[in-house]
Amino acid sequence: MKFRDLGKQYQAMKSDIDASINTVIEKANFIHGEQVSELEKCLAKYVGVRHCITCANGTDALQLALMAWGIGKGDAVFVPDFTFFASGEVVSAVGAVPVFVDVRQDTFNLDCNALERMVEKIEEEGRLRPAVVLAVDLFGQSAEYSRIWEIAKQHNMLVLEDGAQGFGGRIGERKACSFGDISTTSFFPAKPLGCYGDGGAVFTDYDEWADLIRSYCVHGKGFSKYDNVRIGMNSRLDTLQASVLLAKYPYFISRELEQVQTVAGWYEEQFNGIVKTPYVLEGYYSSWAQYTVKLLNREIRDGVMRLFAENGVPCAVYYEKPMHRQKAFRDYQYDEADYPISTELSRTVLSLPFHPYMSRDEVSLVGKLISEYAKEWE
Ligand SMILES: *Cc1c(COP(=O)(O)O)cnc(C)c1O
Repeated sequence: MKFRDLGKQYQAMKSDIDASINTVIEKANFIHGEQVSELEKCLAKYVGVRHCITCANGTDALQLALMAWGIGKGDAVFVPDFTFFASGEVVSAVGAVPVFVDVRQDTFNLDCNALERMVEKIEEEGRLRPAVVLAVDLFGQSAEYSRIWEIAKQHNMLVLEDGAQGFGGRIGERKACSFGDISTTSFFPAKPLGCYGDGGAVFTDYDEWADLIRSYCVHGKGFSKYDNVRIGMNSRLDTLQASVLLAKYPYFISRELEQVQTVAGWYEEQFNGIVKTPYVLEGYYSSWAQYTVKLLNREIRDGVMRLFAENGVPCAVYYEKPMHRQKAFRDYQYDEADYPISTELSRTVLSLPFHPYMSRDEVSLVGKLISEYAKEWE
């Protein structure tokens, strides 16, 4: 069993991917080939925003957004405490301060009440200017943007949506990666829509920010790559990756997004109360970047992981360490008492094998192992 079976996925769409890659190699248009702009048009249309700007990875995408806004020294950026490191890393990278916020027990996403309290605390302290809410669509489910917009508006902040795990998800009819003033995603192979290496994209409705980001990602170019008007970076999606994504995209939309709903349904039936299964809010549609359950405590989680290992079932802990405890952020002062939920989650969550090509038998095996173990702890 594979945690995420990219081999099976390739077999399901091999001729399209091979043909797409071969076209690039034959034309040798490896950088800035027409497939890159074709992909950008296609993704912008799907998401429902004016601009999609591809770049080298999802981390750069976040950093480019912060650069376009001129975020830096003296700015506070509010980030969930329970997420992948990059969501906080980019904040420090531009010289601003990541202010971590606890998450919801059930959805694992930003807790809007905690967000409001933290923004007010920072305002009262008066050392930093609340500048951005960087919300994350964790494990495929979007954060609660209507409430996040309200809080952001009230405190004059911008919203940055980290949709690295959220692409393909929706709230009502509105697509993930359209919820931020700027939104980003990642095409890392294991993400909902993955390429065959690194890749990322920025989405926005605002022309001015789109132009700035197109400049920042090619050495701060002016009218050409050799006319440099600002300090930028070299962050491009190469044509081979764009061609892989163009080949995979139709399968993702027409087939995979439905298949992951089916697999999530099978898991839900399997567990039937034994473990806490993922909670999707009313009206939300998850793209299921991960299928993450909660065990009663760390001991039981360790036991389940051992049993999985003995039976060749892969699994992973996303995330073992809340952001406020990462050594890299040791120079900031965080109060342990602000993070009870993310601390508990880091001890109890377990992400199970999950992908669109998983069979019902594989799901049953995972369910059987957990039920077996459940008997022991009862
Ligand atoms: C994967 C991920 C990123 C970074 O994407 P890369 O393409 O690996 O740089 C950022 N944020 C979250 C929440 C992620 O899961």
